Amino acid sequence: MENRSVFRRWLDAMQLGHPLTIAGPCSAETEEQVLETAHALTGGRVTVFRAGVWKPRTRPGNFEGVGEQALPWLVRVKKETGLEPFIEVANAKHVDKALKFGIKMLWVGARTSANPFAVQEIAEALRGLRDMIVMVKNPVNPDLDLWIGAVDRIYRAGIENIGVIHRGFSVYQKSPYRNKPKWQIPLNFKRLLPSVPMIIDPSHICGRRDCIFDIAQMALELQYDGVMIESHIHPDAAWSDAKQQVTPEVLHDIIRRLIVKKPQAEEDRLKQDLNELRRHIDIIDEQILELFAERMKVVRLIGHIKKQQNISLLQPGRWEVVFKRAVEFAARNGLSEEFVKTLFSVIHEESLMQQKKNGAKE
Ligand code: PEP
Ligand code: MN
Repeated sequence: MENRSVFRRWLDAMQLGHPLTIAGPCSAETEEQVLETAHALTGGRVTVFRAGVWKPRTRPGNFEGVGEQALPWLVRVKKETGLEPFIEVANAKHVDKALKFGIKMLWVGARTSANPFAVQEIAEALRGLRDMIVMVKNPVNPDLDLWIGAVDRIYRAGIENIGVIHRGFSVYQKSPYRNKPKWQIPLNFKRLLPSVPMIIDPSHICGRRDCIFDIAQMALELQYDGVMIESHIHPDAAWSDAKQQVTPEVLHDIIRRLIVKKPQAEEDRLKQDLNELRRHIDIIDEQILELFAERMKVVRLIGHIKKQQNISLLQPGRWEVVFKRAVEFAARNGLSEEFVKTLFSVIHEESLMQQKKNGAKE
């Protein structure tokens, strides 16, 4: 993987002319549910049919997937609709069963990609099967290296058709998302490995139906290569993730409304305008960084005084005031509360580190 562009551009080779569109239920439940959903998903841009066969659940006792018996249903999907079946594998046994039924597209789930032992086991079971397409979901924890490591394990087993799926990250704090997008992580992935297609999974990011479109559109603005959305013939009656699944009809509507953005502006004048605005942004960014450097100088002076006085670094009362002022400023200036809160948490952490370096007591 030293060479960043070693991955085969398998998605380009498909020449779809639009983002790869994957849809299907969270879980395969019954043969009727699978077939009815698949048939209803045809006729638009969907080319890949997802369905969970073995389900990783947070707590035992929940529905854990119908298992192997769903595989012949997916063979029927391929035969009757032409949609390519796509399932999750979490161990070597799953891979062997999928291969036995001729399934060509597999994904590694977010709980599995966080576990190098499990990913290695899957990689070994796939060794040398060059025709397979394997997509690696981001690990549940926001760790870019772990995500790249999982991709590398699959790649080293001889799989070149690799894609990744951004499904958001678990966070402990309250959040409007089931899994926070943390866009900077997939964007860094794209920067480091630009030839690996990046697919958005807005269903697992949102955990509810009403934000699926916005997250998918945001991903297209960021030049993602495809979308994967959970769709069920009767979403409310789904055996898993009922709240975030949409009917095939709604799915078609979401896909139709999504606007695919051009990577670059075509007309010269537009390009010039954009360049000018970008230069402006570069200047503002530089000013922001200069101000941060200035802030940290002052912070270090405070650290010095704290050290002399032998008082602790953390002064929660003071921090509350800073935080509150920032949130009030955000409200008056069209910034989101979440943005300033995140920003100031990072600033606070860096300030503490700078003070510590300066020798203040912890
Ligand atoms: C899924 O796609 O159904 C799934 C289990 O997703 P994740 O691994 O992202 O939680
Ligand atoms: Mn699901």
